[in-house]
This record gives sequence, structure tokens and C-alpha cells, in this order.
Amino acid sequence: MTAGTLPEIIVRADNVHTMNPAAGNDSENDACERVSAIAVAGGLITAMGTRSEIEDLATSATEIIDVPGTIVPGFTDAHAHPIMSLSMTRGADLSFCRDQDQVAEALREEAAGRDPDEWVLGWGLDPNVFADEAITNALVHRVLGAEKKTFLSLFDAHSAIASGAALAEAGIAEARSYPGNSSVVVDESGSPTGHLLEFGAMEEIRSVIPALSFNEQVDALNDLLKAMAAQGIAAMHVMDMNDPDTFELLAAAEVRGPLPVKLRLSPWCAPTTTDAELAKLIESQGEGGDRWHIGGAKLFIDGTVEGGTAWLETPDSKGESTTSAWGATEDYAARVRELNAAGVPTATHAIGERGIREVVETLAALPDTGVQHRIEHIESVPKDIINQLGAAGIAASMQPTHCTHYTAADGSDDWSQRLGEVRAARAWCTRDVIDAGGVLALGSDYPVAPFAALPIMADAQLRRPVEDAGVAPVLPEQGLSPAEVLAGYTTEPYAAIGEEAGYLAVGGPATFTVLDVDPLAVDPEELGQGRVLLTVSDGVITHRQD
Ligand SMILES: [Zn+2]
Repeated sequence: MTAGTLPEIIVRADNVHTMNPAAGNDSENDACERVSAIAVAGGLITAMGTRSEIEDLATSATEIIDVPGTIVPGFTDAHAHPIMSLSMTRGADLSFCRDQDQVAEALREEAAGRDPDEWVLGWGLDPNVFADEAITNALVHRVLGAEKKTFLSLFDAHSAIASGAALAEAGIAEARSYPGNSSVVVDESGSPTGHLLEFGAMEEIRSVIPALSFNEQVDALNDLLKAMAAQGIAAMHVMDMNDPDTFELLAAAEVRGPLPVKLRLSPWCAPTTTDAELAKLIESQGEGGDRWHIGGAKLFIDGTVEGGTAWLETPDSKGESTTSAWGATEDYAARVRELNAAGVPTATHAIGERGIREVVETLAALPDTGVQHRIEHIESVPKDIINQLGAAGIAASMQPTHCTHYTAADGSDDWSQRLGEVRAARAWCTRDVIDAGGVLALGSDYPVAPFAALPIMADAQLRRPVEDAGVAPVLPEQGLSPAEVLAGYTTEPYAAIGEEAGYLAVGGPATFTVLDVDPLAVDPEELGQGRVLLTVSDGVITHRQD
């Protein structure tokens, strides 16, 4: 029960779910009424037991924290972009706008009081506000005028809208295309419509927007990670490490104190990545600071359904989503083989059924080097491919709120309309992944969707937004059990990178969170409204509710 070290902290709660696989498969019952307190020293759990057993270990120097709630392992968000979000979430948050009037109001508010020459920025725009209309800068021009420099990123973060003045500022006056299926969309006359697809085109505009100062970025990152810790998040798989300033940014943030969330960052391996850059990526594995390190590599086989850049077997309703982000899939496969041989776990973004199939087949054919690989998103794919994924031991990393926030059971949303009935009926098949024996890690993809973990876990069970009981669930039979969603935020993110962690055990990391609800006992509605009372990450108290 005890590792014999004097405890620095003792946390007394009502019960504990350890999620320890050694406790058997019966995670619903691992509560072991006996365990309700944890002792911590040197960042590790030194003892677990009943309140009185643990209290007996206290010295005068021990801090005793009483929290009426359930202790669970600290949450790991398996897919998020906290660093990229610093530049992506500037300006108006449009993610709550449901129609064009609401977008117009948010933009007017954002523009109010600014110099005429200042940029107006926004993010999180839901393409469903355009309904049947093409996505162009017409809306922005109606509201703010073409001469205002305006740049709005869409919710999927894979496309954006730029006003005429913004395009002019970046010197864009005609069709352009970039590697990775990225392009400046033009109308019949060859003039840009203001719609920009994928990263290359978006970066052209971003590069002419005045950047946040370094200190502003450090502040914003610290605030964001604190807000994440307040949602019970102790660790995060960051799906990017592109900006050369990221190293300095994280180092500067750590000077101010321990990072509120421990970060594992996976740099991108893109079609444009050179051999020298790949060698550097491999070399950099494990580099980092106290509470962050570079781990794994992120690749993209395709883009998004809403952007028309996913890779489908047959075109979508607009004749789009027909190609890979890689000119030749063989180039993608070659990179994955190199990374596998070098011992680097990969994570590949794959959304359309053709892209997912290519990635599953590529990963399944790799020589077994003991490296765990994973696929991100898996939005729509036939069941036999999911079975193949499970059989090959490939991990799935999925984002339940992409389904519940952006699609509708009646198929009226943009995603379902583009894919058509058959493919829409295969939306985010989380249940099938588990039935196929696959590892299923859950995450937010922040800033594409909000990062609060408990509502995501609730949505994953309900298959509708937990805050709106009036909304019909999308494929409710694909919903997960309470134990499966808790595993998806604790043990499974580690399983998805080939590590055994994310559970509570004596001698293991003191990384846990205390909730005012028991996630294995309450219904999803109650879970969604649950509060996080305490978060501890490697023995550091990163959040404490007053
Ligand atoms: Zn992402």
C-alpha cells in the first residue's frame, strides 16, 4: 500500500476509479470502496487506501486536501492544437453563431472602435451558416465592406475566408495552388472568391497579419493551459510543432512555473518535408523541457469534408474530395516506413473512406518494429476497414463533438449533404472501433471544438450535444459506455502511442483529477455538468476549485 515515503500531499475524497488494467477488466467495479485517499510525494503516488490508513501517514509538513468527490486519473486530450490556437483563435469567436445574422453581429462588434486599417479576425465559423450558398467573402463584404482587411477561419481550421482587402494585402489576385491540396478558390472569371482551402493558402494571409508579440503569446498559452487544467486535463497530445518559435515559447512559459498541462508534441511530416527535415524530426524525438517533449510525427492523408479536401472513393455531392493531400500515396507510405523503422510513432489525419483505407492498408503492411501507430478522426468509413484497423492493432483517435456539434441526425448539415446518405450513416463509428478490438483515444481537436472534457465524454455516450436534450442523436447505437469514455480520456491515449499509463497505481505518476460526480455512476447529462474540483499533474496542483 505504501512506498514508504513521507507524503507531501494527501488527497481525501469519496472514492477512486484507478482505471488500472491490472485490476482486471471490470473497471466499473474497480472503485474498491476501500480506496478513497491518495498520498503524493516526489510527483508520484506513494500510497492509496482508506482515509484512516492514509491519514496515519501524514506528518506536520503534509498538506491535507479534502475534496468531496471521485478521484480518476488526470485526463489526457489525445488530439489538440493549443499552440496553433494562439494564432487561430484571435478575434471574434464565431463558433456559437448559428446563422449569418449572428455572424454579422459578431463581426460588427469585433470591428467596432478599430482603426479602419486594422485587421478584423474571427475563428470557429460553422460552414452550415452558408446553407446552400457557396462559401465566399460576400457575407464579409456585406457586413464590413470589401476594403476592410478581414480574415475568418472556419471551424475545421482547414479553410478560411479572406476579404478583398486581405487578399490584396497578401498580393493574391488569381487562382493559386499549394502542396497538400491547398488552393485559392476562384470564380468562373478567375477572380478569388475569398475562400482559401488548406494550410498553404491560409498561411499566405496569416503571414501578413501582424503577429502577437512573444510575451503576449506566452501569456495566452499560460492562460489557455490553466483553463484546460481547470477542466481536469493533465496531459495533451499536441498535433503540431511547426512554428520554429514553439521551442522558445514553451521554454519561456516554463520559466514562469510548471506548465499546467503536460504536452507531447508531434511535428508534421508533410509532402513538402525534405529528407533533411525528416532526419531532424527523427533526431528531435524526446527533446523538450520539464513538462513537454517532442514525441511522434503527424501526417495528413487528406483534408476535410466541409472543405472538399477529404479523400473519398467517389466524389461528394459537389464533385469534390477526390484526391489525397499527397501527390502519390507511395510517397506517404515511404515516409511512414522511414518513421516506423526509426521507432517514431505516427498519427495520420484521415477523414474520407478512401484516405482511411489507404492509411489502414499502409500501416497494416509495416514490418513489426513494436512501434504503435494511430489514425486521427476516421469520420466515415465502411465497417470492414474498421475491422481491419482493429485486427492490425492500429489505434483510433476520434473527436466525439465533431459529430455532435457539426452534424444532424436528419442529414440536413453540410457534412452529411456533401457525403450523401450512405456515407453519412457511417458517421464517427466509435462503437464499431471498440467492437473491432481497436484502441479508441478521445479528444477535442481544440480549437476546432471546445476542450472541456466532461461534455465531450457525455456527448460520446449520447451522440448529441449534452446541453441540448431536444436534438436527435446521430447514430445512437455508436454511443459509448461510461467506462469506455473514461478510458478514452485516461488509459487509451497512452495505448494509442504504445505506452501503458493513464491509470492510478502506487509508484506511478501522481496525475489525477477529482470530480464532483462519479463518471461511472451518473447519467451523461449529470456528467456533462460535472465540476472539476482538483487537478494534479505529476504531483503539481494545476487546478483547485475555491
Ligand atoms: Zn487536429
